[in-house]
Amino acid sequence: MSLREQLCEYGRRAVELGLVIGTSGNLSVRQGDLVAVTPSGAALDRLTPEMCPIVDVEGYLVEGELQPSSETPMHLAVYETTDAQAIVHTHSVFGTVVATTMTELPPVHYNALLLGGVVKVAEYATYGTPELAANVRAALEGKRAALMANHGGVTIGATLEQAFEATLLLEWLCEVYVRGLSIGEPTILTEEQLAAVVDRALNPPEFPRR
Ligand SMILES: [Zn+2]
Repeated sequence: MSLREQLCEYGRRAVELGLVIGTSGNLSVRQGDLVAVTPSGAALDRLTPEMCPIVDVEGYLVEGELQPSSETPMHLAVYETTDAQAIVHTHSVFGTVVATTMTELPPVHYNALLLGGVVKVAEYATYGTPELAANVRAALEGKRAALMANHGGVTIGATLEQAFEATLLLEWLCEVYVRGLSIGEPTILTEEQLAAVVDRALNPPEFPRR
């Protein structure tokens, strides 16, 4: 699948799964110095490959009639300082709920480790600005996910599929936390408990053979 076809595919999935509504949210995928990104002002479930602009890592439009997403500066800033090859940004409900009420999402489930443990909430700044890009970049340091205050969430991956899976996991973790708060105080995993999970994952016990 070409980069642009991937944007169409995952854009459609993002809408189908209710992660984005209308024209909110944007995706990008990188190959070398080029980045295919969803266009500004288009519904993500109605994209065609040729609608998706291609920019270079310096922010120049290389191909496409439509303007790149207004959040493209944030995507490019993240590509500049991480090993990400794809980025997914949505305004998913539970992610946005946490991003409007908390300064971080504490690890209440060990799967949070797949995103880097604690998920930080990037400080608020107007959408599309270099300030927001810088805040997101700082919150993502050493992580696969960040939340954006009063805005939404962003995840990165080595492929668009991975970045998309990370968005699903981020939303699930936020939902578990928010729903947990409705019946009590969610227990937060300790550093020690999380370290034990890492150790277990790195050294899985082998089943004895007959
Ligand atoms: Zn947004």
